[in-house]
Amino acid sequence: MSKSRFRIAVLAGDGIGVEVMAAALEVVETLAEHVGGMGFDMLPVVGGARAYTETGQALSETAWEDAEAADAILFGAMGLPDVRYPDGTEIQPQLDLRARLDLYAGVRPVRSIPGLPSPLADVRAADIDFTIVREQTEGIFWSYGRGKREGNQVAEDTIRVSRPATERIVDFAQATALKRKGAGRPGKLTLVDKANVLGSMAFMRQIFEERSKRKPELRSEATYIDAAALGLVKKPWDYDVIVTENQFGDILSDIGAALIGGMGFAPSADIGDDHALFQPCHGSAPDIMGTGKANPTAMLLSAAMMLDWLGERHGHAKTSEAARVLEDAVRATYAATGLVPFELGGRAGTAEITKAVKQQITGR
Ligand code: ATP
Repeated sequence: MSKSRFRIAVLAGDGIGVEVMAAALEVVETLAEHVGGMGFDMLPVVGGARAYTETGQALSETAWEDAEAADAILFGAMGLPDVRYPDGTEIQPQLDLRARLDLYAGVRPVRSIPGLPSPLADVRAADIDFTIVREQTEGIFWSYGRGKREGNQVAEDTIRVSRPATERIVDFAQATALKRKGAGRPGKLTLVDKANVLGSMAFMRQIFEERSKRKPELRSEATYIDAAALGLVKKPWDYDVIVTENQFGDILSDIGAALIGGMGFAPSADIGDDHALFQPCHGSAPDIMGTGKANPTAMLLSAAMMLDWLGERHGHAKTSEAARVLEDAVRATYAATGLVPFELGGRAGTAEITKAVKQQITGR
């Protein structure tokens, strides 16, 4: 029998991470009751900048073990601008989690939500629906903690592109595009690189082209990062799945978030072969913490991604169904209620949006 009870490590973290996480836990509980056939053991795990101030550790060894032992990790946001390590860098255990749990694929869906204002005048903005798959173990971020400095004169960071990491991210992106094709999307995969300037990126493109031959059922194309930046603003509805280097993915996913209303609408998943972490794309937003203005949408959509991943991984149809119910409920909320989050100049805060999504789920 497939597994139906899941242990979730809940790392709420700092700032609005705590607020949107509370919303997600409430909604997942409602969902589990409404859809039925599944259960969750939510294990709170302490970590982040506040934890660092209180204990001297951003994530304790026990916290690591809890995260590693869980079926999935639900993550709010970590880091506060005035809490830093002695070398001046920010507390970002999410980067360590990615490295230590080998969460190599950053999955960032960008899908417009009906009923919300768009920054684009074109009516086709309602059709935006693409997913960015970001390589998360190398690229230019490989230099994190490894950069070279020659006194006060020169600083160097190195881009690393390896065959195994590139093959596995391209394969992951192809699987993503095929899954979407099965759900009616066009089955198109776009590599974004800078192969005209950098040897590392030309190598990435070579591997992409090799792997593309194995999947003739997908339309594979490659484009330069500058062209992609233009294309994502000019005709974002043309993209299906984008696969790209670490830093390019970081930047393009913020453009993606802007296209659908802002950081509060952009969910994400960090996926490896053995572990997965689900978190909104936004950070701890200390400017609005404690005001009740945080938009929980991105966190709720991230929770839906978690349910989808758990359902597929464990072959548990009810959990997959719960993922669809949650995503549909979030997507239906704005058009049905006319709520406009503070983030878009409206008056709807965390509590009101959470309540409205729960009503969509239960039909009450
Ligand atoms: P990080 O560096 O961790 O990404 P940051 O503070 O630079 O953190 P975010 O926390 O992502 O960036 O937020 C940038 C701004 O966007 C915030 O200051 C906040 O005003 C707004 N914002 C982010 N997330 C939300 C949200 N869920 N709801 C409303 N506004 C948000």
